[in-house]
Amino acid sequence: MPWLPETEILKKKLQKEFIGKKILSVEFYKESEYYPHVGLIENELTDKHIIDITRKGKYLIITIEGGNNLVVDLKVEGVLRYFFEKLSINSYTPMILEIDSGYLCLQNLSLRYVSSVPTMQLKNNQIFRNLGIDPLSNEYNIEIFYKATNKRIGMLKTNILDPSYITGLGNYYVDEILFLAKLHPKREISKLNRLEIESLYSSINKILNESINVGGSSREGFCYLDGSKGRFQNNFRIYDKEGKPCPICRKNIKRIFIGGRGTYFCENCQK
Ligand SMILES: [Zn+2]
Repeated sequence: MPWLPETEILKKKLQKEFIGKKILSVEFYKESEYYPHVGLIENELTDKHIIDITRKGKYLIITIEGGNNLVVDLKVEGVLRYFFEKLSINSYTPMILEIDSGYLCLQNLSLRYVSSVPTMQLKNNQIFRNLGIDPLSNEYNIEIFYKATNKRIGMLKTNILDPSYITGLGNYYVDEILFLAKLHPKREISKLNRLEIESLYSSINKILNESINVGGSSREGFCYLDGSKGRFQNNFRIYDKEGKPCPICRKNIKRIFIGGRGTYFCENCQK
């Protein structure tokens, strides 16, 4: 599943490949009958140039000349692949954009998660309205993080998984971040002191950058345009390592459930 690092890497690959290119044709699988908006998207995209490709949280935004944007949320299993030969359209590949010499294909995703948003409405669109802070955005800094954290109550892990607080951090990213920050996943977030919040902030940055440097994670089968995969899953310090020794103190790594999510931590190192 693409989280923040994977979406950021994919965005850069899309920018390199497609900005300035023209969409020659658009094809949607018949599911479009159930989603009337898809028919409109076809008209908006055909014969238009791609002028920008950006990201808001886990949403990819492909800006088309003429003031419209194709917004895609890859959800759990969605991928975007680029092929030189045309695939057949079906429920597995429900959207194909013909772009110059190749075909940008959306796979493993319902067209429900593809939408068109006029540029004027991008800022206040309901899709993005509830997105929390984005640790990879240029505006992000410790003061913004500190303020946002101070407004929160409840268990630390549950909060970091909540996209209205921090956007785009999945279960294994959160476990790795909390281990690095030496914070227990069940800690009450409103009781963190300034130093602990700073530690959390720098751990988020460190884990995200570490992941980006090795191409993100392909733990749940995620891949990029050419089918290539990331390697961050090989760097896990604690996730999926129940009973194995903690890389710092050598005590056994524990697994508990928090909000139904398997949670790995070291009870000796994380307080
Ligand atoms: Zn430990």
